[in-house]
Amino acid sequence: MSAQPYEPEFQQAYNEVVSSLRESTLFEKHPKYEKVLPVVSVPERIIQFRVTWENDKGEQEVAPGFRVQYNSAKGPYKGGLRFHPTVNLSILKFLGFEQIFKNALTGQALGGGKGGLCVDLKGRSNNEIRRICYAFMRELSRHIGQDTDVPAGDIGVGGREVGYLFGAYKSYKNSWEGVLTGKGLNWGGSLIRPEATGYGLVYYTQAMIDYATKGKESFAGKRVAISGSGNVAQFAALKVIELGGTVVSLSDSKGAIISDAGITAEQVQAISEAKINFKSLEQIIGEYSAFAENKVKYLAGARPWVHVGKVDVALPCATQNEVSGEEAKALVAAGVKFVAEGSNMGSTQEAIQVFEGERLSTKSASEPAVWYAPGKASNMGGVAVSGLEMAQNSQRMTWSREQVDQELKKIMVNCFNDSLETAREYSNEDNKDALPSLVKGANLVGFIRVADA
Ligand code: GLU
Repeated sequence: MSAQPYEPEFQQAYNEVVSSLRESTLFEKHPKYEKVLPVVSVPERIIQFRVTWENDKGEQEVAPGFRVQYNSAKGPYKGGLRFHPTVNLSILKFLGFEQIFKNALTGQALGGGKGGLCVDLKGRSNNEIRRICYAFMRELSRHIGQDTDVPAGDIGVGGREVGYLFGAYKSYKNSWEGVLTGKGLNWGGSLIRPEATGYGLVYYTQAMIDYATKGKESFAGKRVAISGSGNVAQFAALKVIELGGTVVSLSDSKGAIISDAGITAEQVQAISEAKINFKSLEQIIGEYSAFAENKVKYLAGARPWVHVGKVDVALPCATQNEVSGEEAKALVAAGVKFVAEGSNMGSTQEAIQVFEGERLSTKSASEPAVWYAPGKASNMGGVAVSGLEMAQNSQRMTWSREQVDQELKKIMVNCFNDSLETAREYSNEDNKDALPSLVKGANLVGFIRVADA
């Protein structure tokens, strides 16, 4: 379904959705849906533009900027901006495609899109980052608006960058609009938005644990492996710790940290503060004596999965394809029962087969199995609270922390229940007692909602 010569990430995301739909009874029961498939697979619009700025050495730099306005059937295009050297059209198309169904899973009136800039921000000054954001928005501002397209952050774009982008939009357009989400609290942001993806991931996983154990177990006493150390990983870790779980790992692009006794909330806080200056985990561990206390060890060049020892829960929160088939097998051997992605398409197709294979071979719903949640369902809390931020902007109101948190919990639990029910309704499996696949459930719910729109 790609018109480009080579789009491996997009093809992977597309194949996952299509095989979920084809392996279900949806098209058999309702043939009209099959006709929608080729339509949603093509982006409504792709904008590619040149971004130039002056770096701190006084030299001109240039990088390609993009916005993929994928689908607006359910509302304005909505999705983050990724500023990272790996950004290309295949990656943005995969992210935009996923975003359509993810946003539909929130139950809100949101279309799907994604954008970004192929740039490495590491080591650049605050001032230069501001110039990059203004240069990027100079072009993007022509194509977005609060009822047209509402971007937010993603990898490389946090609160600071959203601030610069919003300031740029406001000055170019002479208009205050809720045109970006993830804004600061004093200028239109929502409480809980920074925490939302990580918290939502933990609430979704909690719903899986609740269901699988009939309410007998929770995060308390569970060993939890987390990858990544950015916004999503940090708030997922803090919520797990608050609920009594032990966070045994975190990571960055250069290596992983492992602690058998558990990484503490104070350590997560220290990482969060140091990362704003682009410090690596290796540097942070070296500089803060607090990390020696509970024997946090650093493994250069490693991802956590094969190094974490016995674990109950795995939450990949770094980037796409960060769990291989082999690593999935190692996690299953280490006792993992629940896997939920904070990243988008965190597991490779081989890893999903390992997790889902474990689940499908389980004979009855009462037997233990590996529960696997795809990112488009389990990390949807971020964009869901973005939707709540848009609602607050339209009302010119600020909701309380409790109100947003309650709403987020409700959205995550509804998403789990809807996916479970719909997977059952369109299941093709002979064994009707088998645990339904959350991958199929999420793809079915998202696709049906968009197709109906
Ligand atoms: N980048 C986030 C995601 O992948 C958030 C998008 C948004 O809030 O619009 O869902």
